[in-house]
Amino acid sequence: MTPSPRLLVTIDYESWFAPSRRYDFLPSETRRRLDDDQSLKALDPILEILGDSKAAFYLVGEMVEWHPELPEKISKAGHEVGFHCHVHRKLTDVKEIEKDLTASSDWIQKYNVRGYRAPMINTVEEVYPLLAKHNFAYSSSQYAPAGVAISKSGVWEIPVSTLPLFKHPTEFTAPRYMNLKLVAGGEFPYGSSFTIGLFRKTVFRIIERELKAGRSPVIFLHPYEIGTPNGYPRNFFMDMFHHPLLFPFTLNKSKFLKELLKNFPTSTIQEYVEEL
Ligand SMILES: [Zn+2]
Repeated sequence: MTPSPRLLVTIDYESWFAPSRRYDFLPSETRRRLDDDQSLKALDPILEILGDSKAAFYLVGEMVEWHPELPEKISKAGHEVGFHCHVHRKLTDVKEIEKDLTASSDWIQKYNVRGYRAPMINTVEEVYPLLAKHNFAYSSSQYAPAGVAISKSGVWEIPVSTLPLFKHPTEFTAPRYMNLKLVAGGEFPYGSSFTIGLFRKTVFRIIERELKAGRSPVIFLHPYEIGTPNGYPRNFFMDMFHHPLLFPFTLNKSKFLKELLKNFPTSTIQEYVEEL
């Protein structure tokens, strides 16, 4: 069955420095100091903006260790608690993915986590049997046109949305991440906060059109794009200097989110998957 159209708002709950690869292999304590409780402070304002609109939050496990109240508060407010990774870095080796997942298994079980979002929306096909083994119902770790839902090893893949400009793709094999190949293939990845940062009006209009056509777009934002952490993006300047493409992630998108919530119905991806 095709579920009624709604906007699937997701939040990849990670620290302000996560878009840069420079911090990935530092000790967890160093990242905790850099985070400086900013990710904890970001939560209440986000929950307030969401109000009665439901969203899925994909948490970074080491942050749950720093602040166990994060999943607690998210789930109490009626939102979905999902898994992003234990430590945020590129994870495309299935053995590494399993090690990472196991490191977070306590809170994954405690909150009955059913949804997975790979870091950088970049994963491999072997992730689906692994997720099935660990009782996940779905993954949202590829880019593909809205409405695509593929069952792999009994786990749904509900991709972050693209708009196909030429023809609708038919092949949905991981990895399908944001790279030149995807864009050159004629897919406009409007579900990414990167694209939202650059083309928010266009993205708004695409979402409106998709919903009218009966499709349910998946978009993602980050906590540091909704609230602004202290000293940010100043602290991120060197990262942007070396990687100018990180710039759209530093733009505040709280107004955009409010505008979406005012205009469109939302649900968590878990609710959507239950209706498939
Ligand atoms: Zn991420």
